[in-house]
Amino acid sequence: MQVLKFGGTSVGSAERMKDVARLVNCPGKKIVVLSAMSGTTDHLVKLTNALYKHNIGEATGLLNELEPRYRNTVEALFNSDEAKKKGNDLITEHFNLLRSFTLDMFTHNEEKTILAEGELLSTALFHYYLEEQKVPSVLLSALNFMRIDENGEPDLQYIESNLKRELLKNPHEQLFITQGYICRNIFGQIDNLKRGGSDYTASLIGAAITAEEIQIWTDIDGMHNNDPRYVPNTYPIAELSFDEAAELAYFGAKILHPYCIRPAKKRNVPVRLLNTMQPEAKGTLISREASGDEIKAVAAKDHIIVIKIKSTRMLMAYGFLRSVFEVFERYKTPIDMITTSEVAVSLTIDDNSHIDEILKELETYGTVEMEINQVIICIVGDFLADKHGYAVKIFESLKDVPIRMISYGGSKNNISILVSAEHKKEALLALNKGLFNLKK
Ligand code: ADP
Ligand code: ASP
Ligand code: MG
Repeated sequence: MQVLKFGGTSVGSAERMKDVARLVNCPGKKIVVLSAMSGTTDHLVKLTNALYKHNIGEATGLLNELEPRYRNTVEALFNSDEAKKKGNDLITEHFNLLRSFTLDMFTHNEEKTILAEGELLSTALFHYYLEEQKVPSVLLSALNFMRIDENGEPDLQYIESNLKRELLKNPHEQLFITQGYICRNIFGQIDNLKRGGSDYTASLIGAAITAEEIQIWTDIDGMHNNDPRYVPNTYPIAELSFDEAAELAYFGAKILHPYCIRPAKKRNVPVRLLNTMQPEAKGTLISREASGDEIKAVAAKDHIIVIKIKSTRMLMAYGFLRSVFEVFERYKTPIDMITTSEVAVSLTIDDNSHIDEILKELETYGTVEMEINQVIICIVGDFLADKHGYAVKIFESLKDVPIRMISYGGSKNNISILVSAEHKKEALLALNKGLFNLKK
């Protein structure tokens, strides 16, 4: 069995959906995971923000903008009047639900319910299209098997047993369609796997059924060596190891959700990144084995906060770091980079949800300084301890960029550098020139 995930652009219009239907209509058992049509989730986020502000005028305006896009998609997607009616009834039902939230108090649960609408719409429309084309398929509701635990982490055991039960209801079917991104939480309420979460859904499903392969179909021909949104002349990387891909995803390569490699790695299921607009392109294969090109790629993670704590020397040196880390642990806030000196420690976080409490507690251990708007530039490759010369190459490339922190040696796959946001593009361009200029 294979898992194929199609992102927002890949299902962004009736034409695109028809392309996807052609791609999945071939022999072999598969689960197809779809995102919302491109722009929809952003639009729904704006809607929830308006509803939190009780700005009913803005909310209504946003819904009035979104609905015609779906009506037009129905018009272009289906041939028969009967199928068009079925599609339009679906849109009416979903937009009635979305409009019902403008009438009452707005809560966190309602926000999650609204954010789930994009994937529910795209999968139902796609399923109706396959039905009209006489391609047999089964629509599985991700809400019946995808679940996060009390820490917001996917519960792989639950997912595995519930997904298998759902699949066994149709043992002879070849093609299953389901929603990316959406899930239920520990209380059974609708929730999600955070923005870009459809990749994570695909990987969790692939791991749950130990699929032959997980394919992530998107709008670019694989993982590039640098961020194509900032740097010209990037190129796709043919092969990456799970660890290399996981580092790139975690440190900002938007093509993959930050955690989506973990489940695939756990069950050793290869992940292939492919381009819907160019299906014949080789893409990127992510697997346990990967060819050992020395420096493979660069990525950048935005919105980083750096915190510097200078010990008041009230604590012995060995107690200081533990006390500092415990503060972050209490607030479930992961630390990405860390550098230390005898009396001070600098570290970075990207989750600012408990920043005020964290700073207050840290002040009991020393003087605390914080700076926002920082960026981690992560260089990924095979940096085994016995290899040398990489650091020189990297710092030579970055000689004109002010560097705030450096992390080298923490992992054999990653060298991280902290710069302020204003120097991000310059750093990415400089690294492209210095590290990859010979390959094109
Ligand atoms: P989807 O909607 O299919 O999930 P995304 O927009 O989430 O697609 O991810 C694909 C985009 O990721 C590409 O269009 C590209 O701009 C961006 N991207 C950022 N870094 C990289 C990278 N290193 N390699 C490839 N794409 C990248
Ligand atoms: N639709 C969701 C988002 O835009 C999930 C995804 O596309 O992966 O974040
Ligand atoms: Mg994505």
